[in-house]
Amino acid sequence: MPSDLVIVYHRQPFEEVEEDGVVVRRANSSPNGIVPTLKGFFANVEKGSWVAWKMAEDPANPDFERVVEVEDTFGTYSVSRLPLTRAQVSSFYHITSKEAFWPILHSFKDRYNYDPVDWPTFREVNWAFAEAAAAEAAPGAVVWVHDYNLWLVPGYLRQLRPDVRISFFHHTPFPSADMFNVLPWRREIIKSLLAADVVGFHIPRYANNFVSVVRSLFDVAPPEREQVRGDFLGEGTALSERSVPVSLMHQGRKVHISAFPVGVNAGYVESIASNDETEARVRAIKAELGDARLIISVARTDYTKGNIEQLLTYERLLERQPALRGKVRLMHVSVQANRSMTAYESIQNEIEQIAGRINGRFGSFDWQPVALISRAVPFAELIAYYRAADIAWITPLADGLNLVAQEYVAARTDGDGVLVLSEFAGTAIALESAVLTNPFSDGMMNWSIDQALEMPEDERRARMTVMRRTVATYDIEAWASEQQRMFDLARFDTPEQD
Ligand code: UDP
Repeated sequence: MPSDLVIVYHRQPFEEVEEDGVVVRRANSSPNGIVPTLKGFFANVEKGSWVAWKMAEDPANPDFERVVEVEDTFGTYSVSRLPLTRAQVSSFYHITSKEAFWPILHSFKDRYNYDPVDWPTFREVNWAFAEAAAAEAAPGAVVWVHDYNLWLVPGYLRQLRPDVRISFFHHTPFPSADMFNVLPWRREIIKSLLAADVVGFHIPRYANNFVSVVRSLFDVAPPEREQVRGDFLGEGTALSERSVPVSLMHQGRKVHISAFPVGVNAGYVESIASNDETEARVRAIKAELGDARLIISVARTDYTKGNIEQLLTYERLLERQPALRGKVRLMHVSVQANRSMTAYESIQNEIEQIAGRINGRFGSFDWQPVALISRAVPFAELIAYYRAADIAWITPLADGLNLVAQEYVAARTDGDGVLVLSEFAGTAIALESAVLTNPFSDGMMNWSIDQALEMPEDERRARMTVMRRTVATYDIEAWASEQQRMFDLARFDTPEQD
Protein backbone atom coordinates (compact mmCIF):
# COMPACT_ATOMS: atom_id res chain seq x y z
CA MET A 1 0.00 0.00 0.00
CA PRO A 2 1.48 3.39 -0.96
CA SER A 3 2.16 5.93 1.79
CA ASP A 4 0.66 9.35 2.48
CA LEU A 5 3.83 10.42 4.27
CA VAL A 6 7.33 9.36 3.28
CA ILE A 7 10.17 10.44 5.53
CA VAL A 8 13.56 10.40 3.87
CA TYR A 9 16.27 10.45 6.51
CA HIS A 10 19.64 8.89 5.93
CA ARG A 11 19.61 6.75 9.09
CA GLN A 12 17.15 3.96 9.92
CA PRO A 13 14.59 4.78 12.63
CA PHE A 14 15.84 1.98 14.86
CA GLU A 15 19.06 0.42 16.05
CA GLU A 16 19.90 -2.98 14.66
CA VAL A 17 22.07 -5.37 16.62
CA GLU A 18 22.89 -9.01 16.12
CA GLU A 19 22.21 -11.22 19.13
CA ASP A 20 23.14 -14.91 18.77
CA GLY A 21 23.08 -14.61 15.00
CA VAL A 22 19.63 -13.02 14.97
CA VAL A 23 19.05 -9.39 14.00
CA VAL A 24 17.19 -7.53 16.74
CA ARG A 25 15.68 -4.09 16.12
CA ARG A 26 15.26 -1.65 18.97
CA ALA A 27 14.03 1.91 19.24
CA ASN A 28 16.92 4.41 19.15
CA SER A 29 18.62 4.81 22.50
CA SER A 30 18.06 8.57 22.72
CA PRO A 31 14.27 8.88 23.10
CA ASN A 32 14.62 12.62 22.90
CA GLY A 33 16.28 12.83 19.49
CA ILE A 34 14.67 13.89 16.26
CA VAL A 35 13.88 10.32 15.16
CA PRO A 36 10.98 9.70 17.58
CA THR A 37 9.55 13.11 16.71
CA LEU A 38 9.54 12.30 13.02
CA LYS A 39 8.01 8.88 13.68
CA GLY A 40 5.30 10.67 15.66
CA PHE A 41 4.01 12.04 12.32
CA PHE A 42 3.03 8.50 11.27
CA ALA A 43 0.22 8.67 13.82
CA ASN A 44 -1.52 11.31 11.62
CA VAL A 45 -1.59 9.31 8.39
CA GLU A 46 -3.14 6.09 7.19
CA LYS A 47 0.17 4.69 5.98
CA GLY A 48 3.72 5.95 6.48
CA SER A 49 7.14 5.02 5.12
CA TRP A 50 10.71 5.80 6.07
CA VAL A 51 13.58 5.67 3.55
CA ALA A 52 17.15 5.16 4.82
CA TRP A 53 20.37 3.43 3.83
CA LYS A 54 21.83 0.24 5.15
CA MET A 55 25.31 -1.03 4.47
CA ALA A 56 25.35 -4.08 2.19
CA GLU A 57 28.55 -5.36 0.61
CA ASP A 58 26.55 -7.20 -2.03
CA PRO A 59 23.44 -5.18 -2.90
CA ALA A 60 22.19 -8.09 -5.03
CA ASN A 61 22.24 -10.53 -2.11
CA PRO A 62 18.74 -12.09 -2.00
CA ASP A 63 18.90 -12.18 1.82
CA PHE A 64 19.01 -8.40 2.02
CA GLU A 65 15.68 -7.29 3.46
CA ARG A 66 14.80 -4.32 1.26
CA VAL A 67 11.60 -3.31 3.06
CA VAL A 68 10.89 -3.95 6.73
CA GLU A 69 7.43 -3.55 8.24
CA VAL A 70 7.60 -2.01 11.69
CA GLU A 71 4.96 -1.94 14.36
CA ASP A 72 5.79 0.10 17.43
CA THR A 73 4.23 2.73 19.66
CA PHE A 74 4.19 5.09 16.66
CA GLY A 75 1.96 2.82 14.61
CA THR A 76 2.67 0.62 11.62
CA TYR A 77 5.01 1.87 8.93
CA SER A 78 7.49 0.48 6.43
CA VAL A 79 11.18 1.15 6.34
CA SER A 80 12.61 1.02 2.85
CA ARG A 81 16.35 0.40 3.00
CA LEU A 82 18.79 1.28 0.24
CA PRO A 83 21.62 -1.18 0.09
CA LEU A 84 24.81 0.90 -0.10
CA THR A 85 28.31 -0.53 -0.31
CA ARG A 86 31.02 0.55 2.13
CA ALA A 87 32.64 2.51 -0.73
CA GLN A 88 29.38 4.36 -1.49
CA VAL A 89 28.84 5.22 2.19
CA SER A 90 32.39 6.44 2.53
CA SER A 91 32.12 8.63 -0.57
CA PHE A 92 28.60 9.98 -0.13
CA TYR A 93 28.57 10.35 3.65
CA HIS A 94 32.09 10.56 5.08
CA ILE A 95 33.71 12.44 2.22
CA THR A 96 31.18 14.58 0.35
CA SER A 97 28.83 15.28 3.25
CA LYS A 98 31.26 15.46 6.16
CA GLU A 99 34.46 16.74 4.54
CA ALA A 100 33.04 19.09 1.93
CA PHE A 101 29.52 20.17 2.99
CA TRP A 102 29.79 20.12 6.80
CA PRO A 103 32.70 22.62 7.04
CA ILE A 104 31.03 24.99 4.59
CA LEU A 105 27.67 24.79 6.37
CA HIS A 106 29.46 25.75 9.60
CA SER A 107 31.61 28.42 7.89
CA PHE A 108 34.93 26.62 8.34
CA LYS A 109 36.49 27.21 4.91
CA ASP A 110 39.88 25.97 6.14
CA ARG A 111 38.48 22.52 6.86
CA TYR A 112 36.80 22.17 3.48
CA ASN A 113 38.18 19.26 1.47
CA TYR A 114 37.25 19.29 -2.21
CA ASP A 115 39.70 16.90 -3.86
CA PRO A 116 38.36 13.54 -2.66
CA VAL A 117 34.74 14.32 -3.57
CA ASP A 118 33.28 11.93 -6.12
CA TRP A 119 30.26 13.88 -7.35
CA PRO A 120 28.83 11.12 -9.59
CA THR A 121 28.58 8.86 -6.52
CA PHE A 122 26.82 11.58 -4.55
CA ARG A 123 24.32 11.98 -7.39
CA GLU A 124 23.88 8.23 -7.73
CA VAL A 125 23.11 7.78 -4.02
CA ASN A 126 20.70 10.73 -3.95
CA TRP A 127 19.00 9.37 -7.07
CA ALA A 128 18.55 6.02 -5.33
CA PHE A 129 16.94 7.78 -2.34
CA ALA A 130 14.61 9.68 -4.70
CA GLU A 131 13.64 6.47 -6.51
CA ALA A 132 12.92 4.69 -3.25
CA ALA A 133 10.78 7.62 -2.03
CA ALA A 134 8.94 7.75 -5.37
CA ALA A 135 8.16 4.04 -5.09
CA GLU A 136 6.64 4.48 -1.62
CA ALA A 137 4.60 7.66 -2.15
CA ALA A 138 0.85 7.63 -2.81
CA PRO A 139 -0.50 10.22 -5.30
CA GLY A 140 -0.22 13.69 -3.74
CA ALA A 141 1.70 12.31 -0.71
CA VAL A 142 4.04 14.45 1.40
CA VAL A 143 7.69 13.46 1.03
CA TRP A 144 9.73 14.97 3.81
CA VAL A 145 13.48 15.01 3.13
CA HIS A 146 16.04 15.71 5.84
CA ASP A 147 19.41 17.34 5.73
CA TYR A 148 22.27 18.25 3.46
CA ASN A 149 23.41 14.72 2.61
CA LEU A 150 20.17 14.43 0.60
CA TRP A 151 20.34 17.85 -1.09
CA LEU A 152 19.75 16.45 -4.59
CA VAL A 153 16.70 14.38 -3.66
CA PRO A 154 14.02 17.11 -4.16
CA GLY A 155 15.13 17.76 -7.77
CA TYR A 156 15.24 14.08 -8.71
CA LEU A 157 11.98 13.35 -6.97
CA ARG A 158 10.22 16.20 -8.78
CA GLN A 159 11.29 14.57 -12.10
CA LEU A 160 10.07 11.15 -10.98
CA ARG A 161 6.88 12.26 -9.23
CA PRO A 162 5.62 15.74 -10.18
CA ASP A 163 2.46 15.09 -8.11
CA VAL A 164 3.98 14.79 -4.64
CA ARG A 165 4.50 17.59 -2.12
CA ILE A 166 8.14 17.86 -1.13
CA SER A 167 9.34 19.39 2.12
CA PHE A 168 13.04 19.70 2.94
CA PHE A 169 14.37 20.52 6.42
CA HIS A 170 17.93 21.63 7.25
CA HIS A 171 19.14 20.54 10.71
CA THR A 172 22.36 22.56 10.35
CA PRO A 173 23.18 26.23 9.91
CA PHE A 174 22.84 27.62 6.39
CA PRO A 175 25.78 29.91 5.57
CA SER A 176 26.07 33.20 3.72
CA ALA A 177 26.50 33.33 -0.06
CA ASP A 178 30.26 34.02 0.23
CA MET A 179 30.62 30.77 2.08
CA PHE A 180 28.05 28.54 0.33
CA ASN A 181 29.21 29.49 -3.14
CA VAL A 182 32.59 27.92 -2.42
CA LEU A 183 30.85 24.64 -3.30
CA PRO A 184 31.38 24.03 -7.04
CA TRP A 185 28.06 22.18 -7.20
CA ARG A 186 26.16 25.16 -5.78
CA ARG A 187 23.79 25.68 -8.74
CA GLU A 188 22.83 22.02 -8.91
CA ILE A 189 22.15 21.91 -5.16
CA ILE A 190 20.07 25.09 -5.10
CA LYS A 191 18.14 24.10 -8.22
CA SER A 192 17.23 20.86 -6.48
CA LEU A 193 16.10 22.67 -3.31
CA LEU A 194 13.96 24.99 -5.41
CA ALA A 195 12.10 21.92 -6.70
CA ALA A 196 10.74 21.43 -3.16
CA ASP A 197 7.47 23.01 -2.00
CA VAL A 198 8.85 23.84 1.43
CA VAL A 199 12.41 24.53 2.53
CA GLY A 200 12.82 24.70 6.31
CA PHE A 201 15.48 26.01 8.66
CA HIS A 202 15.93 26.43 12.42
CA ILE A 203 16.25 30.20 12.60
CA PRO A 204 15.54 33.30 10.50
CA ARG A 205 19.23 34.01 9.83
CA TYR A 206 19.64 30.68 8.00
CA ALA A 207 16.49 31.30 5.94
CA ASN A 208 17.75 34.77 5.04
CA ASN A 209 21.14 33.33 4.07
CA PHE A 210 19.41 30.76 1.88
CA VAL A 211 17.48 33.46 0.03
CA SER A 212 20.65 35.46 -0.58
CA VAL A 213 22.40 32.33 -1.91
CA VAL A 214 19.45 31.62 -4.25
CA ARG A 215 19.44 35.21 -5.48
CA SER A 216 23.21 35.16 -6.06
CA LEU A 217 22.79 32.22 -8.45
CA PHE A 218 19.36 32.56 -10.10
CA ASP A 219 17.14 35.38 -11.26
CA VAL A 220 14.58 35.25 -8.51
CA ALA A 221 12.47 38.21 -7.43
CA PRO A 222 12.87 39.45 -3.83
CA PRO A 223 10.58 37.38 -1.62
CA GLU A 224 7.62 38.61 0.36
CA ARG A 225 8.57 38.89 4.03
CA GLU A 226 6.69 38.53 7.29
CA GLN A 227 7.42 38.90 10.97
CA VAL A 228 8.71 35.73 12.60
CA ARG A 229 5.93 33.36 13.60
CA GLY A 230 6.01 32.87 17.36
CA ASP A 231 8.03 34.86 19.85
CA PHE A 232 10.94 32.47 20.20
CA LEU A 233 13.28 35.33 19.34
CA GLY A 234 14.72 37.13 22.35
CA GLU A 235 13.99 40.82 22.90
CA GLY A 236 17.54 41.77 21.97
CA THR A 237 17.09 40.39 18.44
CA ALA A 238 17.63 42.96 15.69
CA LEU A 239 14.61 43.95 13.61
CA SER A 240 16.14 42.48 10.46
CA GLU A 241 16.34 39.10 12.21
CA ARG A 242 12.66 39.28 13.04
CA SER A 243 11.67 39.41 9.42
CA VAL A 244 11.74 36.21 7.40
CA PRO A 245 11.13 35.38 3.75
CA VAL A 246 7.78 33.68 3.22
CA SER A 247 8.21 32.15 -0.21
CA LEU A 248 10.13 32.40 -3.47
CA MET A 249 8.74 32.05 -6.97
CA HIS A 250 10.90 29.91 -9.20
CA GLN A 251 9.89 28.84 -12.72
CA GLY A 252 6.23 29.41 -11.94
CA ARG A 253 6.30 27.37 -8.74
CA LYS A 254 6.05 28.65 -5.21
CA VAL A 255 8.68 27.53 -2.72
CA HIS A 256 7.55 28.17 0.86
CA ILE A 257 10.24 29.00 3.39
CA SER A 258 10.04 28.24 7.08
CA ALA A 259 12.25 29.26 10.00
CA PHE A 260 11.30 27.52 13.20
CA PRO A 261 13.67 25.88 15.69
CA VAL A 262 13.39 22.25 16.69
CA GLY A 263 12.58 22.01 20.39
CA VAL A 264 12.94 19.31 23.01
CA ASN A 265 10.25 17.11 24.44
CA ALA A 266 10.15 19.28 27.55
CA GLY A 267 7.50 17.26 29.38
CA TYR A 268 9.44 14.06 28.86
CA VAL A 269 12.73 15.61 30.04
CA GLU A 270 10.98 17.03 33.10
CA SER A 271 9.41 13.70 33.95
CA ILE A 272 12.82 12.00 33.93
CA ALA A 273 14.41 14.91 35.79
CA SER A 274 11.97 14.65 38.66
CA ASN A 275 11.51 10.90 39.06
CA ASP A 276 12.75 9.10 42.20
CA GLU A 277 15.62 7.35 40.46
CA THR A 278 17.00 10.64 39.15
CA GLU A 279 16.55 12.33 42.51
CA ALA A 280 18.58 9.55 44.13
CA ARG A 281 21.25 9.78 41.44
CA VAL A 282 21.48 13.57 41.85
CA ARG A 283 21.98 13.15 45.61
CA ALA A 284 24.72 10.58 45.01
CA ILE A 285 26.53 12.81 42.49
CA LYS A 286 26.34 15.77 44.87
CA ALA A 287 27.57 13.70 47.81
CA GLU A 288 30.55 12.61 45.77
CA LEU A 289 31.32 16.21 44.79
CA GLY A 290 31.37 17.41 48.41
CA ASP A 291 31.67 21.19 48.36
CA ALA A 292 33.05 21.30 44.80
CA ARG A 293 30.87 22.86 42.14
CA LEU A 294 30.07 20.92 38.97
CA ILE A 295 30.30 22.33 35.47
CA ILE A 296 28.90 20.09 32.75
CA SER A 297 29.74 20.20 29.06
CA VAL A 298 28.19 17.80 26.53
CA ALA A 299 28.85 17.58 22.81
CA ARG A 300 29.88 15.33 19.96
CA THR A 301 33.60 15.52 19.22
CA ASP A 302 33.69 17.96 16.35
CA TYR A 303 35.80 21.00 15.50
CA THR A 304 32.56 23.03 15.37
CA LYS A 305 31.72 22.30 19.03
CA GLY A 306 34.49 24.37 20.66
CA ASN A 307 35.78 21.63 22.99
CA ILE A 308 39.39 22.80 22.74
CA GLU A 309 38.54 26.48 23.32
CA GLN A 310 36.53 25.48 26.39
CA LEU A 311 39.21 23.26 27.91
CA LEU A 312 41.80 26.00 27.41
CA THR A 313 39.46 28.46 29.15
CA TYR A 314 39.15 26.04 32.05
CA GLU A 315 42.92 25.75 32.26
CA ARG A 316 43.19 29.55 32.37
CA LEU A 317 40.47 29.67 35.04
CA LEU A 318 42.48 27.43 37.34
CA GLU A 319 45.58 29.51 36.64
CA ARG A 320 43.79 32.81 37.19
CA GLN A 321 41.86 31.78 40.30
CA PRO A 322 43.92 29.46 42.50
CA ALA A 323 41.14 29.60 45.14
CA LEU A 324 38.97 27.51 42.81
CA ARG A 325 41.39 24.59 42.83
CA GLY A 326 39.71 21.71 44.58
CA LYS A 327 36.40 23.62 44.53
CA VAL A 328 35.23 23.05 40.98
CA ARG A 329 34.97 20.08 38.65
CA LEU A 330 34.40 19.95 34.90
CA MET A 331 32.61 16.96 33.45
CA HIS A 332 33.47 17.18 29.78
CA VAL A 333 31.44 14.72 27.71
CA SER A 334 32.84 14.64 24.21
CA VAL A 335 31.35 11.75 22.32
CA GLN A 336 33.40 10.50 19.44
CA ALA A 337 30.82 9.71 16.76
CA ASN A 338 32.88 9.51 13.57
CA ARG A 339 35.78 7.33 14.59
CA SER A 340 36.87 6.58 11.05
CA MET A 341 37.57 10.21 10.15
CA THR A 342 41.04 11.67 10.64
CA ALA A 343 39.77 15.17 11.40
CA TYR A 344 37.76 13.82 14.35
CA GLU A 345 40.52 11.49 15.45
CA SER A 346 43.01 14.35 15.77
CA ILE A 347 40.59 16.61 17.65
CA GLN A 348 39.86 13.78 20.07
CA ASN A 349 43.60 13.35 20.67
CA GLU A 350 43.95 17.05 21.32
CA ILE A 351 41.05 17.01 23.81
CA GLU A 352 42.60 14.08 25.65
CA GLN A 353 45.97 15.79 25.69
CA ILE A 354 44.65 19.08 27.14
CA ALA A 355 42.42 17.33 29.70
CA GLY A 356 45.40 15.19 30.76
CA ARG A 357 47.60 18.25 31.08
CA ILE A 358 45.03 20.07 33.26
CA ASN A 359 44.67 17.05 35.53
CA GLY A 360 48.45 16.69 35.69
CA ARG A 361 49.07 20.39 36.39
CA PHE A 362 46.36 21.03 38.95
CA GLY A 363 45.01 17.68 40.18
CA SER A 364 45.78 16.06 43.49
CA PHE A 365 45.21 12.67 45.10
CA ASP A 366 41.64 13.59 46.04
CA TRP A 367 40.70 16.10 43.33
CA GLN A 368 40.54 15.58 39.58
CA PRO A 369 39.77 18.90 37.85
CA VAL A 370 38.40 17.38 34.59
CA ALA A 371 36.47 14.18 34.11
CA LEU A 372 36.68 13.46 30.38
CA ILE A 373 34.06 11.08 29.03
CA SER A 374 34.32 9.99 25.39
CA ARG A 375 31.57 7.40 25.26
CA ALA A 376 27.88 8.28 24.91
CA VAL A 377 26.20 8.77 28.27
CA PRO A 378 22.68 7.27 28.48
CA PHE A 379 20.03 9.98 28.34
CA ALA A 380 18.64 9.41 31.87
CA GLU A 381 22.14 9.58 33.34
CA LEU A 382 22.79 12.78 31.41
CA ILE A 383 19.65 14.31 32.89
CA ALA A 384 20.84 13.46 36.41
CA TYR A 385 24.10 15.29 35.66
CA TYR A 386 22.18 18.27 34.25
CA ARG A 387 20.25 18.39 37.51
CA ALA A 388 23.34 18.09 39.68
CA ALA A 389 25.43 20.64 37.76
CA ASP A 390 25.79 24.26 38.88
CA ILE A 391 26.64 25.33 35.35
CA ALA A 392 26.09 23.95 31.84
CA TRP A 393 28.92 25.20 29.64
CA ILE A 394 28.08 25.02 25.97
CA THR A 395 30.46 26.82 23.68
CA PRO A 396 30.24 25.76 20.02
CA LEU A 397 32.00 27.87 17.40
CA ALA A 398 29.06 27.11 15.10
CA ASP A 399 25.99 24.96 15.73
CA GLY A 400 22.70 24.70 13.85
CA LEU A 401 20.70 24.70 17.08
CA ASN A 402 22.04 22.78 20.13
CA LEU A 403 19.58 20.54 21.92
CA VAL A 404 21.82 20.01 24.95
CA ALA A 405 21.29 23.63 26.04
CA GLN A 406 17.52 23.19 25.83
CA GLU A 407 17.62 19.84 27.62
CA TYR A 408 19.62 21.39 30.48
CA VAL A 409 16.99 24.10 30.91
CA ALA A 410 14.11 21.61 30.68
CA ALA A 411 15.81 19.37 33.26
CA ARG A 412 16.11 22.18 35.82
CA THR A 413 12.76 21.53 37.43
CA ASP A 414 14.32 23.02 40.62
CA GLY A 415 14.57 26.40 38.82
CA ASP A 416 18.28 26.83 39.57
CA GLY A 417 21.44 26.46 37.45
CA VAL A 418 23.34 28.70 35.04
CA LEU A 419 23.59 28.19 31.30
CA VAL A 420 26.68 29.60 29.60
CA LEU A 421 25.97 29.46 25.90
CA SER A 422 27.83 30.42 22.76
CA GLU A 423 26.20 33.15 20.67
CA PHE A 424 26.89 30.91 17.68
CA ALA A 425 24.51 28.13 18.71
CA GLY A 426 21.22 28.62 16.82
CA THR A 427 19.25 28.24 20.03
CA ALA A 428 20.98 31.33 21.50
CA ILE A 429 18.44 33.51 19.66
CA ALA A 430 15.76 32.12 21.98
CA LEU A 431 17.84 31.80 25.15
CA GLU A 432 19.18 35.28 25.63
CA SER A 433 18.82 34.94 29.40
CA ALA A 434 21.73 32.55 29.30
CA VAL A 435 25.18 34.02 29.91
CA LEU A 436 26.03 34.42 26.25
CA THR A 437 29.64 34.09 25.22
CA ASN A 438 31.93 34.30 22.21
CA PRO A 439 34.23 31.29 21.99
CA PHE A 440 36.51 33.12 19.53
CA SER A 441 37.52 35.51 22.33
CA ASP A 442 39.61 34.38 25.30
CA GLY A 443 38.51 37.50 27.17
CA MET A 444 34.79 36.77 26.68
CA MET A 445 35.25 33.12 27.59
CA ASN A 446 37.05 34.09 30.83
CA TRP A 447 34.45 36.71 31.65
CA SER A 448 31.46 34.46 31.05
CA ILE A 449 32.64 31.55 33.18
CA ASP A 450 33.52 34.01 35.96
CA GLN A 451 30.01 35.48 35.72
CA ALA A 452 28.46 32.04 35.96
CA LEU A 453 30.53 31.05 39.00
CA GLU A 454 29.79 34.30 40.80
CA MET A 455 26.11 34.67 39.94
CA PRO A 456 23.86 35.09 43.01
CA GLU A 457 20.98 32.64 43.45
CA ASP A 458 18.17 35.15 42.80
CA GLU A 459 19.69 36.12 39.45
CA ARG A 460 20.23 32.46 38.51
CA ARG A 461 16.60 31.70 39.25
CA ALA A 462 15.28 34.75 37.44
CA ARG A 463 17.20 33.89 34.29
CA MET A 464 16.24 30.21 34.49
CA THR A 465 12.54 31.07 34.83
CA VAL A 466 12.60 33.01 31.56
CA MET A 467 14.50 30.26 29.74
CA ARG A 468 12.23 27.52 31.07
CA ARG A 469 9.18 29.35 29.74
CA THR A 470 10.72 29.56 26.26
CA VAL A 471 11.86 25.94 26.18
CA ALA A 472 8.44 24.73 27.33
CA THR A 473 6.58 26.87 24.77
CA TYR A 474 8.83 26.18 21.78
CA ASP A 475 9.10 22.49 22.42
CA ILE A 476 9.05 19.67 19.94
CA GLU A 477 5.28 19.84 19.54
CA ALA A 478 5.44 23.48 18.51
CA TRP A 479 7.98 22.56 15.84
CA ALA A 480 5.85 19.63 14.69
CA SER A 481 2.77 21.86 14.28
CA GLU A 482 4.77 24.39 12.28
CA GLN A 483 5.92 21.60 9.95
CA GLN A 484 2.32 20.40 9.58
CA ARG A 485 1.25 23.98 8.79
CA MET A 486 3.86 24.09 6.03
CA PHE A 487 2.70 20.76 4.53
CA ASP A 488 -0.85 22.15 4.51
CA LEU A 489 0.26 25.38 2.82
CA ALA A 490 1.97 23.36 0.11
CA ARG A 491 -1.27 21.48 -0.49
CA PHE A 492 -2.81 24.63 -1.97
CA ASP A 493 -0.13 25.02 -4.64
CA THR A 494 -0.36 22.63 -7.55
CA PRO A 495 3.16 21.66 -8.45
CA GLU A 496 4.08 21.80 -12.12
CA GLN A 497 6.88 19.94 -13.78
CA ASP A 498 10.02 22.02 -14.56
N1 UDP B 1 23.46 12.92 23.89
C1 UDP B 1 23.29 11.77 24.66
N2 UDP B 1 24.37 11.26 25.31
C2 UDP B 1 25.61 11.84 25.24
C3 UDP B 1 25.76 13.03 24.47
C4 UDP B 1 24.65 13.54 23.81
O1 UDP B 1 22.17 11.23 24.75
O2 UDP B 1 26.55 11.32 25.83
C5 UDP B 1 22.28 13.50 23.18
C6 UDP B 1 21.89 14.83 23.80
O3 UDP B 1 21.06 14.60 24.92
C7 UDP B 1 21.19 15.53 22.64
C8 UDP B 1 21.91 14.99 21.41
O4 UDP B 1 22.65 13.85 21.85
O5 UDP B 1 19.82 15.15 22.58
C9 UDP B 1 22.86 16.02 20.81
O6 UDP B 1 22.12 17.02 20.13
P1 UDP B 1 22.71 18.48 19.85
O7 UDP B 1 21.69 19.24 19.07
O8 UDP B 1 23.15 19.15 21.12
O9 UDP B 1 24.03 18.24 18.99
P2 UDP B 1 24.31 17.48 17.60
O10 UDP B 1 25.14 16.28 17.99
O11 UDP B 1 22.99 17.11 16.98
O12 UDP B 1 25.11 18.46 16.79
